Amino acid sequence: MRTGIMGGTFDPIHIGHLYLAHEAKEVLGLDRIIFIPSGVGPHKAASETPKQLRLEMVTRAIQDFSYFEVSNMELNRSGYSYTIDTLKTLKKQYPKDTFFFITGADAFLTIESWKQFDVLVKEMHFVAAYRPNEDMDHDATMETLQALISRLENIGAKAISALPILGLDISSSDLRKRISAGRHINCLVSPSTLALIEEHKLYGWKQR
Ligand code: ATP
Ligand code: MG
Repeated sequence: MRTGIMGGTFDPIHIGHLYLAHEAKEVLGLDRIIFIPSGVGPHKAASETPKQLRLEMVTRAIQDFSYFEVSNMELNRSGYSYTIDTLKTLKKQYPKDTFFFITGADAFLTIESWKQFDVLVKEMHFVAAYRPNEDMDHDATMETLQALISRLENIGAKAISALPILGLDISSSDLRKRISAGRHINCLVSPSTLALIEEHKLYGWKQR
């Protein structure tokens, strides 16, 4: 099976994540995509949102798509979330699968700081999604991305696909700011995600 992996904090999950997963599935002919909410990442401050709620938001947001799954393997792990540990677990769980790790260009551009990134790129395919039309410094991004891909290929990377996607200028941090400023997030997250944010008054949600 060709299995895509979507890692992220998903705090909260939004349509940028869901759209990227659909796009990767279609373009790379993936059979399924497993969303893996991260525990405490080495590169990010710990989230204030309870893990269970991040998991619940992802679970509900993907429920209408039969080829999307969610795994709590990183949330249940103690200590930092390292992709290399996730890969080991995935290989044990699904020994016959080929894995495609899906990232936005922003995340992919940091890969050389990931633990054992040289092993990761040899053992998994990577998908780096970039926004061809909307990046203001498009040429600079493409140049940096291409240079990185060449460096990784030189150390024996399996396959790295640059995936052009629509630029949806949405991020979880902006959504959190919008919510705490009392602004709506309709259409930027799934209705089920919005319902959970309201119910648990996440990110400083106030009844409108
Ligand atoms: P934050 O603002 O907290 O960094 P985020 O919106 O970037 O949150 P993450 O959980 O950090 O979400 O991202 C998970 C993955 O989704 C990363 O690979 C990231 O590049 C990608 N991603 C996030 N937002 C978008 C978007 N709008 N379009 C495409 N990919 C995205
Ligand atoms: Mg991010």
